[in-house]
Amino acid sequence: MRYAVVECPVCGGYLAIDSKVGYRKCPYCSYVNKIEVSRVVKTFKSPKEASELVRLLNSSNDSFKPLSSNDS
Ligand SMILES: [Zn+2]
Repeated sequence: MRYAVVECPVCGGYLAIDSKVGYRKCPYCSYVNKIEVSRVVKTFKSPKEASELVRLLNSSNDSFKPLSSNDS
């Protein structure tokens, strides 16, 4: 499986990581998520499927607080 959807441990947002690269900076908090470290929710063969799950998870995730919220 090529693309992993992971949960960012810092902000709780979801992002897709290309497993060939192995890491990706969180678009919400800039934390660098690594596949080996971050919690992998699901893996996909196509980036389209992965990004669709990311969008779905982020829109239905109550605990996800983008940078605008500081009260944690
Ligand atoms: Zn984050």
